[in-house]
Amino acid sequence: AKAAGKGRFEFYQPHLSDSLFLRLAKEHALREAIDKDQFVVHYQPRVSTRAGRLNSLEALVRWHHPERGMIGPDDFIGLAEDTGLIVRLGELVIDNVCAQLAEWGRRGLGPVPVSVNVSGIQLREGGLSAFIAAALARHRIDPRLLEVELTESSVIDKGRATAHELSALRELGIKLSVDDFGTGYSSLAQLQQLDVDVLKVDRAFTSAVGKSEEGAVLFRAIVSMADALDISVVAEGVETREQLHALQSLDCDEVQGYLVSKALPAHEVPSLIARRYLF
Ligand code: C2E
Ligand code: CA
Ligand code: CA
Ligand code: CA
Repeated sequence: AKAAGKGRFEFYQPHLSDSLFLRLAKEHALREAIDKDQFVVHYQPRVSTRAGRLNSLEALVRWHHPERGMIGPDDFIGLAEDTGLIVRLGELVIDNVCAQLAEWGRRGLGPVPVSVNVSGIQLREGGLSAFIAAALARHRIDPRLLEVELTESSVIDKGRATAHELSALRELGIKLSVDDFGTGYSSLAQLQQLDVDVLKVDRAFTSAVGKSEEGAVLFRAIVSMADALDISVVAEGVETREQLHALQSLDCDEVQGYLVSKALPAHEVPSLIARRYLF
């Protein structure tokens, strides 16, 4: 009787069981994808604001699903973080990027530095700097060719483990950048204490630059403070000529966005490197 009651309860809660079922199924699929390494890395160029010179590439992961095709990170990074799978996934991405840098190096391309997105969980779990050090050594990569992108919320006031990992990353000689700047609550002074090299200003600010005088004033304030602290500024999500021209007059150091190029598969990168000036 108890079993029947339980069964009926489940029957009247289809959404609850459905979502739990879907979640478990997705987690299982993600775990399997990691075991089979079904991930590919695409690369989006970051260029100088003045001349459009290729300065670096951002590594952006995609899940190449055997039946459903390419799945973007917004559809699985959250689940990977919730389940802790982000640690292994992050390691796959770092290893993939280092192998790619080594391959381009063997072909005499570049060198062009690559930035990798890292979740706060990877930083907190520890072992990130050790993994990166081993990957750089394994593939014989100059640490100056690697940059790690972290969000404000993952680096500010996160306790000892995080602080230790951050300084270990610094000691490796790789660059640190703060991603989605402006969406959190960090001050530039806090970021300077972390010895950050690059500020990537969130797309929301970039779109405001093209739209209003206030948007331009705000962006100019970010640029002048960052400049005083010797941190370079990247505008994310540049989509229009108007935004580019405004950013040129604001002395923003670098831009990234669909106006220049979307993220491209690795095999399309050599032609970007050959062009060198992308606008
Ligand atoms: P993000 O780090 O802020 O990366 C920029 C995102 O904006 C990318 O989306 C990029 O394709 C997109 N984008 C670039 N230019 C433009 C533009 O002009 N307009 C618009 N509307 N969008 C633009 P994507 O590749 O879907 O990545 C989404 C997010 O997933 C990333 O945001 C990052 O937070 C996360 N992510 C990507 N790869 C990794 C990874 O390997 N590890 C971790 N932990 N997170 C990753
Ligand atoms: Ca990023
Ligand atoms: Ca960003
Ligand atoms: Ca400067």
